Amino acid sequence: MMIVALETAFGDIVPLIPEEEGLRGKELEYLRQLAAGPRDRELSPKGPWELIRGDGLLFSAPHEAAQLRDGIEKIAERGTADLAFALARATGGSALATADRQLGDPNWDIGHPYIARAGTLAGEWPTIDLHIMRPRGLEICIGLGPKPKMSDDLWRPFVEEAVASGLRVSVNWPFAANARTVTGQLQRGGRRAIQLELSWECYDPSHPAMRRAWSSLARASRRLGRSTG
Ligand SMILES: [Zn+2]
Repeated sequence: MMIVALETAFGDIVPLIPEEEGLRGKELEYLRQLAAGPRDRELSPKGPWELIRGDGLLFSAPHEAAQLRDGIEKIAERGTADLAFALARATGGSALATADRQLGDPNWDIGHPYIARAGTLAGEWPTIDLHIMRPRGLEICIGLGPKPKMSDDLWRPFVEEAVASGLRVSVNWPFAANARTVTGQLQRGGRRAIQLELSWECYDPSHPAMRRAWSSLARASRRLGRSTG
C-alpha cells in the first residue's frame, strides 16, 4: 500500500530555479548588513518609533515592539523591523517600525499617530506593511486590504517572486487586512498599501525559508520601485 502524506511541508517545495539557493544566501547576507545601518528615532504619545527617510516604497513594521490591544499585551514580531529597514535601503525607500515601549497598537487603533507618520513618509509611494503569522501551512500571506482595487499593481510581483523562490504564498487568506490594520487605515486615507504576513521561519537564519523570503521580497520590491510611484 502506498502511503501519501495528507499535507505538504516546506521540504516538498521545489523552487523554479533550484540552483539559486546559493545566490539567495548571498542576497540575505547583503540585506542583513543593510538592516544593521543607523536609524532615526522619534517619540509619539503612543510610544517611540524608528525610521529612515527615502524616496520610494515605505516598508512598515508596526508590531516590532510588543503592542497593547485593548489593554492586553500581544507578542512582539521581532525581525520585522530589520526586514523593513533592509528592504528600504535596498530600494532607496523609507522604513518605519515601532520601538519599546508601546501604549497601543497601530494595526488596531483607529487614528494611531503611526498611521499619519507612515502617510507622510510614504508620500506618493505605496506602503508594504510587514508582519509575522503563526504557522498556517504557508510562508507568505498577502492581504489586499478593504479596498483591493488600490492594491492591484502591488501584489503580483510578490506572488511571482515568492513562487520563483520556492515559497507557499496566498492572497487574502488567512489575513485580508481589515479596516483597522495599517493597510486598511492607509487605504482609507487614499494611499496604496498591502500587508505581508510571513511565517516565523522567514525570520530564522537557520531555516532556508529566510533566504528565500528576504531575497524574493527584495526582488519584488525592486520591480515595484521601477514600475510605480
Ligand atoms: Zn502583526
